[in-house]
Amino acid sequence: MRLTLLLFLAFSCLAQTREEQVAKAAAALRDKVVEQRRDFHRHPELSNREERTARVIAEKLRALGLDDVRTGVGKYGVVAVLKGGQPGPVVAWRADMDALPVFSTSDKPYKSLNNGVHHACGHDAHMAIGLAVAELLAGMRDRIAGSIKFIFQPAEEGAPRGEEGGAALMIKEGALESPRPAAIFGLHVWSLAPTGTVTYASGPAMASADSFTIAIRGKQVHASTPHLGIDSISVAAQCITQLQTIRSRRIDPNESMVLTIGSIHGGNRNNIITAEVKMEGTIRTFSENTRENVRTMMKRTLAGCTSAGDADFRLDFDGAQYPVTVNDPKLTAESLPQMRRVLGEQNIQAKPPVTGAEDFAYYQKVIPGFFWFLGVRNEKLGITGAHHTPEFDLDEAALVPGVKLAANQLLDYLERHR
Ligand SMILES: [Zn+2]
Ligand SMILES: [Zn+2]
Repeated sequence: MRLTLLLFLAFSCLAQTREEQVAKAAAALRDKVVEQRRDFHRHPELSNREERTARVIAEKLRALGLDDVRTGVGKYGVVAVLKGGQPGPVVAWRADMDALPVFSTSDKPYKSLNNGVHHACGHDAHMAIGLAVAELLAGMRDRIAGSIKFIFQPAEEGAPRGEEGGAALMIKEGALESPRPAAIFGLHVWSLAPTGTVTYASGPAMASADSFTIAIRGKQVHASTPHLGIDSISVAAQCITQLQTIRSRRIDPNESMVLTIGSIHGGNRNNIITAEVKMEGTIRTFSENTRENVRTMMKRTLAGCTSAGDADFRLDFDGAQYPVTVNDPKLTAESLPQMRRVLGEQNIQAKPPVTGAEDFAYYQKVIPGFFWFLGVRNEKLGITGAHHTPEFDLDEAALVPGVKLAANQLLDYLERHR
């Protein structure tokens, strides 16, 4: 009993001195992390086109003396390893790199110079925090028992149609090999939570997202003689109604699921019955089981409603496909005490999962991971714009707390798993 208490006290003291050291180093990096975020903000690049972004990251990591800086992993991905002074496990940190095709309404001096492209999801902050964490930890290398792998990932928002990209491609090209991390961490800035707070969910944290296209094929004919053709518009209308019964009648009401048809196109004149209707949509779930069931139900529903109208269909799950982001409950639970110490008990809040999606989920299919949300909202400064909108911005006062939390999280993991 006494020994346990002594060990606990010794560990707490060690953690305290380490946390003090990290806090000091993070505060000293304040101007740098803000300037770096602004540099990325000025030069946003679309998914799978992050050429300059990757170059800047690789240069900084090399200048910091990180080992084995690999570029071109999954197109513009950059992977680097920081080897500590003592042996120990490997843990990974991931930051995504891409911006969005959104016009920015910003009047800030660091507004986007790439017209029509905007860091409207905050990945500029993720990269700046990632680089600051690398710099901070490189400065205390001797004290680190183990290695930290930094994964800078392009195309989180989804590769352009017909291209591979994102986390899945980076994994395919070896981002999680040699060395293989035992766990992975990452954060997303969060416009709904105020600066100085963190929200998280244990278990399912973000939804799966599967985009799909549906083509309903009938037979073109004069509008005055519907019996001689097959009206793809009226069949499509039946199919949409039937597809919505998957949510309302066939999935357990306690299961979260969204099925949205987001676009529909067909026909070009008042007096022609058109041969084809095309639709696009997305499915969101919090369980891989439900995700698979919904896909199967969609196929059966479309087969039934089209055959009733003598039409044909084609259903393709194309474009971005994201699994459910599942935070490993054990890893989440063991990471929380450190976060509470650094940010204050009341500032770390558990929240229900969100229906947004993240391709961080792919790493979590291979190794345990914990992905959390860093508050960047500041009502007083008028920073309230939602993600993916022209008004999106973030409170830069959140950057240093982000660096502190991330650096401690990685060190804490290495110490716990020594
Ligand atoms: Zn986004
Ligand atoms: Zn994002």
